[in-house]
Parts: sequence; structure tokens; C-alpha cells
Amino acid sequence: MEKIQNYINGDLIPPQSGNYINNICPATGKVYSLIPDSDANDIEMAVIAAKDAFKTWGKLSKKERYDHIMHLADVIEEHFDVLVKAESRDNGKPEWLAQSVDIPRASENFKFFATASLHFNSEIHEMDGKAINYTLRQPIGVAGCISPWNLPLYLLTWKIAPALTAGNTVVAKPSEMTPMTAYLFSQICQKANFPKGVINIVHGYGNKVGDALSRHPDVPIVSFTGGTATGEKIAAAAAPMFKKLSLELGGKNPNIVFEDADFDKAVTIAVKAAFSNQGQICLCGSRLFVHESIYSDFKCAVIEETKNLKVGDPKDKNSNLGAVISEEHMNKILSCIEKAKLEGGEILIGGKRLILKGKLKNGYYIEPTIIDGLSVDCQTNQEEIFGPVVSMIPFKTEEEVIEMANSTKYGLSASIFSRDISRAHRVAAAIDSGVVWINTWMLRDLRIPFGGMKSSGVGREGGFKSLQFFTEPKNVCIKI
Ligand code: NDP
Repeated sequence: MEKIQNYINGDLIPPQSGNYINNICPATGKVYSLIPDSDANDIEMAVIAAKDAFKTWGKLSKKERYDHIMHLADVIEEHFDVLVKAESRDNGKPEWLAQSVDIPRASENFKFFATASLHFNSEIHEMDGKAINYTLRQPIGVAGCISPWNLPLYLLTWKIAPALTAGNTVVAKPSEMTPMTAYLFSQICQKANFPKGVINIVHGYGNKVGDALSRHPDVPIVSFTGGTATGEKIAAAAAPMFKKLSLELGGKNPNIVFEDADFDKAVTIAVKAAFSNQGQICLCGSRLFVHESIYSDFKCAVIEETKNLKVGDPKDKNSNLGAVISEEHMNKILSCIEKAKLEGGEILIGGKRLILKGKLKNGYYIEPTIIDGLSVDCQTNQEEIFGPVVSMIPFKTEEEVIEMANSTKYGLSASIFSRDISRAHRVAAAIDSGVVWINTWMLRDLRIPFGGMKSSGVGREGGFKSLQFFTEPKNVCIKI
């Protein structure tokens, strides 16, 4: 069985402990490879390599770094099909989704940030002819990049790319649930002759490897995407060392449909927002608020649209949904559905595990589920489920829906559907979330400040915001 290796100082090496963790394919429930069960010793090695590599990488010109990174993106593209298949097998998502979203974004992240670094300016403040201040933006050192399993290579590269283009070196910790494309990426770094030690990838459990990375005194900057509870732990570990932190955390995102919305479009987008990637995207619209005057019709329409969704083999191009990430996560989602019933929710469609045939019979499949009749403040409507589950809630007025939308501890994203542009602007301004879409969902421009409010995160990433995060601003004042 294939043994995944850590990537440290340009070499693929086993964990120092010699221990491995089973890697399970969610579509079949079968172990198909082994993941290094690394620990603080492996992190130590990786940090030493990254610190050493920083001495040269941090001093390269922007154009030299750009050339290395663009070449790396080209080599990723040469391995497109292998990466697509690996991402789908490791994560359970349909291959067409990995092909259209995950893997194209991995190479795009490198190209986007490499190019951005050539255009990145810093500030100049002129003091009425007395002095000029200019701001240097310098690389910081070894960046710790910790990423989740839902968009594995997409989110890993979303962090690594700006960290590198800004002149830092990286120690990355992918999710132990989805290590395969990160492993293939380390092989790609070797094939691209990427400078040794600049990128290091250490696999293993979050509470060992992730924790050791976020506590390491020689890692002054940490970018994390994952759950809010993990974000709290990382913030606590990093705080005594005053590390620079970017935390992209969970969400309980409201989608709000007003009575004057384009009905058919809103239905299609609401269903897509609820169930894409098996509902395992931090931006999924898991609370669907619909104006009471169209509530009943909208409910029927989303049920009809959901009936057309096929849950099936991730390799089948007709499968709209594949498997969820793990047995444990499947059981968590199913227990959330049971909890919703206890809270008085009515399951309009779905609600159960699906047992597929043949070699997929032990896979982790869940029917797309719509729930109605829950109060806004119940657990189902307050806590992130991170699965194919959406709760529908009627509303009467704009003020009421704003209050309900803002009633959770989260504040990541929201979608508003209305033809009244003044109302859409008003509601967008009033919603507590880092990203608001009007008449759409998940339309991503990589230049925007991306991130969450409240318990959905700290800081913003994307475009120059990422380059600002991954650099230290230093002001120099010259007296005239
Ligand atoms: P987790 O928080 O469980 O894990 C994220 C990463 O952190 C994994 O690599 C994990 O390793 C690691 N980790 C776990 N414990 C620690 C620790 N104590 N110290 C350091 N690292 C640790 O999230 P999931 O992987 O379950 O991802 C789902 C969550 O991510 C959802 O809440 C989702 O909303 C959020 N998310 C947010 C996004 C955003 O942009 N705001 C985007 C995508 C997802 P391991 O897996 O090995 O435990």
C-alpha cells in the first residue's frame, strides 16, 4: 500500500516515529494509503530547513521568485488529471468538481499571487515638504500554513502561494483526512526543481503536528483555515508569542430571498449553495430565509430541484453529490439531523444515509436534506453542520430577517436575492458577514478581502491583503 511521505528540505521522507495512519477513501470506506503520523520532531526538522532556506529565498528578487512560482504552476497543470482523480478519491467529491474547481484553482493561486507580487506597492506619506515616510514590506520568515479537508489542494495553495511570493518560506500541514494531493504536490515541487527547503509539508494529526507548528517559536506567522474550535486553540497557542495570525473559520451562512427576487434563479442558486461539495464548503448557505409571501411556492420548488440531485459514485459525471469526508463526519451530520427532529423540525426531503451498490456500499453518502419549521435560535440554526443540510425559515420584514441572519456567532458570508437594488445594498450593509453576494453565490474574485467577522475569523486574505499579511510593514522616515 502506498505510503505518503513528508516533504522536508526537498526530500520525501518517512515520519521520524515510523508510524502511519490509515487513509480511507470516503467513496468506498476502504483504506487505500498510509499517512505519516508525524509529530513535533518532524516539525522541528521542517522548521530548521525552512529557516535555512529563508536566508536565500527571502533575498531573491521578486522576478526570480515569480519565475520559480510560475514554473511550479505550469508543472501542476501538467499533472492536472492525476491531481483531479486523487482529490476526488481522497475527499469523496465528484471528479467533475475537482476538475472544474479544486485543481484549476491550485495552479491559478500560484499564478495569481506570483503576478500580484510584481504589482504590489507600499505606502508613501509626505509631510508637507518636511519629510517623506515610505513603508518597506519585508518577508517575515517561516510561515505556518494549516489547511482543512474540504478543498484540500485549493486551500493549501491559497496559503502557500502568497506566503512564498511575499518572500517567506513555508511549513504546511494539510488535513490528515486529505493528504494525497499535498503529497503529489511535493513530488511536483521536486519535478519543478523548486528550491529545497522553501516549501515543506508535514502530514499527521492536527493536535500533534498542527499544534507543534502553531507553537513553534521560529514560526512567527500562521495562516489557518478550519473550524472555529480549532481556531480558538491556535489563537491561544500563538498569543503568548504575539504571532501574526490569519484565521479563516466556520460559518452558518444566511441566504435571504425577498418576494421580488428572480424566483427560478434564486431556487437554483439556493440549492447549489446548500449542497455543493456535499454542503462541505465554509460558504454554503445553510440557513435559507424566504419571504412569507412566496415561502410555500419556494419550498415546493427547492424540494423539486433537490429531487433531481443524484448522490452517487464520485467518478460518475452525473453524480451531483459524492461522499462526505469520513464515517465520523457522516455520523455527526446524521446526529445533527436527528437533533433537528427533536427540536421540532420537519424533514422535507432527505435526512438519511444512502447505501450505494457494489464497491460503494460502505461509502459515506447522505441524502441532500431540507428541514422546515425550526426556530431561529435552536441548535440546528445556530451551529455549523458542514454537510448537505439546509434549514428553511420564513420572514415577514427586512428588519426581522436582518436580525435573524445576524443571530448566530458566525459572520462569514451571506447571499441576498432581490430585484430592489436599494434594498439589496441596505441589507448587505446591515448583515454581519465578511462577504455578501447579491443575486449570486460563491462568485469569487481573488482580489477581494476574503474572511469572516465574529467567530468566522480574524483578518482577511486575498489579493494584496494576503501580501500585506505575509509581509512586515516597516516605516522609514527621511527628513528633508
Ligand atoms: P479542523 O479545524 O478540524 O481542521 C483544520 C486543520 O487544522 C486540519 O489540518 C487539522 O488537522 C488542523 N488541526 C486540528 N487541530 C489542531 C490544533 N490543535 N492545532 C493546529 N492545527 C490543528 O477543520 P476541518 O478540517 O474539519 O475543516 C472544516 C472546517 O473548516 C469547517 O468549520 C469550515 O467551515 C472551515 N472552513 C473555513 C473556511 C474559510 O475560509 N473560512 C474554508 C474552508 C473550511 P487534522 O485534520 O489532521 O485534524
